[in-house]
Amino acid sequence: MLRIQNLSNCAVFLDFDNTITTVDVLDEIIQKFSVDGKWIRYENLWRDGKIGSKECIEEQLKGIRVEKETLNKYLSTVKLDPSFDNLLTLLRRYNVHPVILSDSFTYFIQTILKNHNIRNVPVYANTVRFEGQRLIPSFPYRNSECKRCAHCKRVHLLKPSMADKTTIYIGDGLSDICPALEADFAFAKDKLIDYLKKEKKTCLEFKYLKDVYDLLKKAQT
Ligand SMILES: [Mg+2]
Repeated sequence: MLRIQNLSNCAVFLDFDNTITTVDVLDEIIQKFSVDGKWIRYENLWRDGKIGSKECIEEQLKGIRVEKETLNKYLSTVKLDPSFDNLLTLLRRYNVHPVILSDSFTYFIQTILKNHNIRNVPVYANTVRFEGQRLIPSFPYRNSECKRCAHCKRVHLLKPSMADKTTIYIGDGLSDICPALEADFAFAKDKLIDYLKKEKKTCLEFKYLKDVYDLLKKAQT
């Protein structure tokens, strides 16, 4: 049973790829714009836990060649979960200002949000710059204590300002494990829910953000 009766005392964190968007944007960029298939080897090593996502992303980006304009064109095709807007409105009604935590890149995320006229949602992610057709990553939120993530999202839930808050995390993938284990409530789907179930972490299953919206709204009445 969900016991988030006081939404106004909650801090809400969302993953981006395949949580707010309907596809995994970084995965699609790697698949579309890699010049060879080397990325597959790193993807498998990462999935098997043999390398962390920093090494995986660094190696995979080495194989990408894309003009900024071509990338932007792709980003303009990415769709958002249709209930993201409603979820934002509901949260803001309770004075909750959600934050996006991603192990992808700020540039991709902010471009997509802008394309959908979504404003004022803070984004914490890795950063990337263009060097001709190459994408050069950097990792401003690297946590040396975490071997799994390039951007360990857990640190945002551990900030002193979170001490009195009920933390809610919403995500789908392996890079969501650390924050989902830390959160008071985790909404999970796909690989994340499989992992959390195995670890016996209590979580709420969702398929679409409408499920999250409905549960949160219902809990307030
Ligand atoms: Mg994701």
